[in-house]
Parts: sequence; C-alpha cells; structure tokens
Amino acid sequence: MMKKYALDKLVICNNCHTVHQKIPLHQGGKALCSRCDAVIYRQDDTIIEKTLAITLTAFISLLIAFQSTILTININGLEQSLTLTSLFVVILENEQYLIAVMLVFLIVIFPLMILLSLLTILTLMKLKKSGYLVKRLLILLAYILPWSMVDIFFISILVAMVKLFDYAKIELGIAFGAFILTLILDIFITKNISFYELWNQHDTIYGETHVKEK
Ligand SMILES: [Zn+2]
Repeated sequence: MMKKYALDKLVICNNCHTVHQKIPLHQGGKALCSRCDAVIYRQDDTIIEKTLAITLTAFISLLIAFQSTILTININGLEQSLTLTSLFVVILENEQYLIAVMLVFLIVIFPLMILLSLLTILTLMKLKKSGYLVKRLLILLAYILPWSMVDIFFISILVAMVKLFDYAKIELGIAFGAFILTLILDIFITKNISFYELWNQHDTIYGETHVKEK
C-alpha cells in the first residue's frame, strides 16, 4: 500500500485537499481541517461496534428491498406490482440481456458484496482475527465501492413514478421504504467510517505493514 511509514503521519482533508500533520486525539475527539473545518479523522473506540450495527441493519433492509413489492401501479383498474424480480422478467422477455446483466451486478451483486465484506471486515476487526483477510477485503472494497448503483436505481424509480402520476394510481410497497432506509443507512456508514479510518483501525489492531529492503 502507498500510505506507509513517513506518510502515516500525514493526512489529507477530503474536502479541500490540504495536507496536515496528524496529532493523537483523546477518546471522542475529532481532528478538524485548519482551513475548512471539515472533520478529517476522529478517535472513537466504539466506532467498529457502531458501524457494524448500522451495516447489519442496512444489509437486512437491502434484502427486504430486493424481495418485496416496490410499487403497485393501477391504470384503469389494471393492477401491476413491481418487484426487482418482476423487473428482471420484463427485461429478459424483451431480450435486453446486457441490461439484465448490468442490473444484476450494479443493483444486486456489488451492493451485497460491499455490505458483506464490510460486515466481515468489522466482525474480524472486533475479534482481532485474520489480519491478512481483512487487508484483502479492504482492497476489494476500494475496487467495488464505486460500482454500487442502488441510489441511481432508486432515483430512476422516482423519475418513472413522477411520469406515471398523471394516468396511474401508485401505491408504495414495503421495498420502497426499505430502499430509502438502506440509502439513509449507507450515508450513515460513509459518514461514520472512512477508508482512512478503516486502514487506521487495521494498522492499530494488526500492526503496521512496512516495506522490505533488498
Ligand atoms: Zn479542509
């Protein structure tokens, strides 16, 4: 990894990209950017437990979102329930295989992989076990994190809903609420713990990894 040794003492503000020297903080303390006052890192000994609880809730609510009805559309008495599965069936019936594959990866596989690897990382960190696996999972997480498009999927449902409002009666389903909950929890997770903090926790728990000299 890049962030090693001498660089360990430096930290960059995510907001304005100013480079700072790190200082040790007391429990519950926050390190603020000297230029824009954004929180750069914090010292919270319960951060793993808190994030673990939120991630687990997000995982369950995403599973509910995948399995229940998102909306029920009623046009002149003709009722149609939309679930993720029924959406896939329609896409496959129209032979849009590429869209179906993209949808499976961006909406289902990547989001579930992200939450599952985060759950595994946090649980192993809590148990202080399998440092190597945690490291591999952190690297995997960095690769797949930009490929979760649940938020974009949800926004497109909202846009479709607005367009249908004029000539259809729309009832919101359980999955609609579950999607909102998942997205809110997702914001909490990213606000609670950053990659920087995850690597920091990794180094604190398992010890730092230094380069080899040849
Ligand atoms: Zn700043």
